[in-house]
Amino acid sequence: MGSLFRTEKIIYKTPAEIEIMREAAQIVSRTLGIIAAEVKPGVQTIYLDKIAEEYIRSQNAIPGFLGMYDFPNTLCISVNNEVVHGYPSKRELKDGDIVSVDCGSVFEGFYGDHAYTFEVGEVDPAIHKLLEVTKECLEVGIQATKVGNRLGDIGWAIQNHAENHGYGVVRDLVGHGLGRTMHEEPQVPNYGRRGQGKKIQEGLVIAIEPMINLGTERVITADDGWTILTADGHVSAHFEHDVAVVNGMPEVLSTFKYVEEALAKKNK
Ligand code: MG
Ligand code: MG
Repeated sequence: MGSLFRTEKIIYKTPAEIEIMREAAQIVSRTLGIIAAEVKPGVQTIYLDKIAEEYIRSQNAIPGFLGMYDFPNTLCISVNNEVVHGYPSKRELKDGDIVSVDCGSVFEGFYGDHAYTFEVGEVDPAIHKLLEVTKECLEVGIQATKVGNRLGDIGWAIQNHAENHGYGVVRDLVGHGLGRTMHEEPQVPNYGRRGQGKKIQEGLVIAIEPMINLGTERVITADDGWTILTADGHVSAHFEHDVAVVNGMPEVLSTFKYVEEALAKKNK
C-alpha cells in the first residue's frame, strides 16, 4: 500500500527486530512467488487473493491489509490504469494487461509490505519498458538508502531515473516507515531534492515503492472511494521492497527471487 498517515516520530529498529521483519518480508515475497505462477489470462483477481490469504496464514502470519482502513482483502490488485489500492474481484485478467499485486503480512507483530507488477501474456513493448524502468527506479532508490544520505536523496534518485524516460512520478502516494504498524514515519516520497529531508540513520526500516505512470503523474480516486487511477487513463507500474539500514548500508528484507523463479519456469 502507498500511505496516508501521521505518526509522531521515526521508530528505529534493533537488529533482533530487523530479523523478525525480514521473516515478515520473506513471507510476503514467497506469497508473490505463488501469485506469479498463477497470473495468466482468464484468472479472476479474487482467486489470487484467496490463495495469498491461505499461504500467509499457513506461515503463522496474518494478512497485513485485511481490515486496515476497512480494506476487505489480503491483496491490493491494480490492473492497467489502476495505480494502487485496487480491490480483488471477479474481474478476469486479459492478455496484454499488467497487474500490480501489493501484499502485506504481520509476523510476530511486525509488518512486511511488498509489491510487484506482472505482465499478463504478451504486453505492448512500451508497457514492458515502463515495468523495467520502474523496477530500476526501486533499485536506485534502495542504493540511496544509506547513512550519510537524506530522505530527499532517495526521492531524487527515483524521480530522476523515471523522468529521464519521460514518465510521470506519482506524488499523491508515497513510501513509508514500516514496523509494528504498516505506515510509520518517515514518509518516503518518490520525488525530492538531493541533500534535503531527514538524515538516514542506522536501524531505519522503510518501504520504498515507486508508482510510475506511462503518462501524466496526476491521479484520481475511483468512484469506489478506494482505487487510485491515472488521470489520463494510461497504465501505471508499482514495485515495492522493504529496506533496512544495517551497518550504514541498505539491506533489502524482501526479495523478487521467488517471483523470478516462478516467471522463469512459466516462460520455459
Ligand atoms: Mg505495499
Ligand atoms: Mg507500502
